[in-house]
Amino acid sequence: MRIWLDDGLRDPDSARISVFDHGLTVGDGVFETVKAVDGEPFALTRHLDRLTRSAHALGLPGPDHDQVRRACTAVLEANPMPLGRLRITYTGGHGPLGSDRGEHGPTLVVAVAGTTRRPDSTAVITVPWTRNERGALAGVKSTSYAENVVALARAHQHGASEALFGNTVGQLCEGTGSNVFVVLDGEIHTPPVASGCLAGITRALVIEWTGAKETDLPLDVLRRADEVFLTSTLRDVQAVHQADERELPGTAGPVTAKAMRIFAERSGHDQDP
Ligand code: PLP
Repeated sequence: MRIWLDDGLRDPDSARISVFDHGLTVGDGVFETVKAVDGEPFALTRHLDRLTRSAHALGLPGPDHDQVRRACTAVLEANPMPLGRLRITYTGGHGPLGSDRGEHGPTLVVAVAGTTRRPDSTAVITVPWTRNERGALAGVKSTSYAENVVALARAHQHGASEALFGNTVGQLCEGTGSNVFVVLDGEIHTPPVASGCLAGITRALVIEWTGAKETDLPLDVLRRADEVFLTSTLRDVQAVHQADERELPGTAGPVTAKAMRIFAERSGHDQDP
């Protein structure tokens, strides 16, 4: 296994970042998770664009896309695998112990781990904690992810693979690492980015490819939606067969099954849509 740190490939056992790295001390960093199939990253241009938007939202300088692409290529070539979770992490770098940022410039880490294809359907729970759609980090893929760690652990305790959040005004928002879609009267809806959710790349592709609508939805829509599905880089489109106590019919309802088919076809034809 080889990883990329700052300007080159390294052995992960000897690669070193400062114990004062602001990503470590205060969660001052941004990241991307990219799907890599047979060493080919999917939708890398969109991921790099979002990495830049996230970095700018934190006041970090935009990452050098050519360098990050080189890092991704090198890491994928050094670690061949059929299905990989390619992780790009970009932090505020060496800094003081408080929230002020240091002068040393950002840290870049690119690493990959093998993963297996997700099941076609899954169970979700809702959690009592909220996404803050008015917070400074709303919609930013920052490394301050401990709220997601807590919520995902709660989901696992309940036999679910994802926890869904509402926002501060009780609207459906997103999961810890996924966006959520519901089917109402045959139409597909997903919360707008203004709900505080991440502008998911899979979400954007599903909206583009299926005509799904962005709609404010109350959290309890999960109790009456005909179908529910999740989207994310590693889930693609994944049906929900249970939401809290409610069992949804079948593994994937007809509209979800069609969305899954469309996503598989379109993403199979274009590695960088
Ligand atoms: N929402 C959150 C909070 C996420 O971390 C993710 C990331 O994977 C998503 C949604 C889904 O986004 P994408 O489809 O770009 O993976």
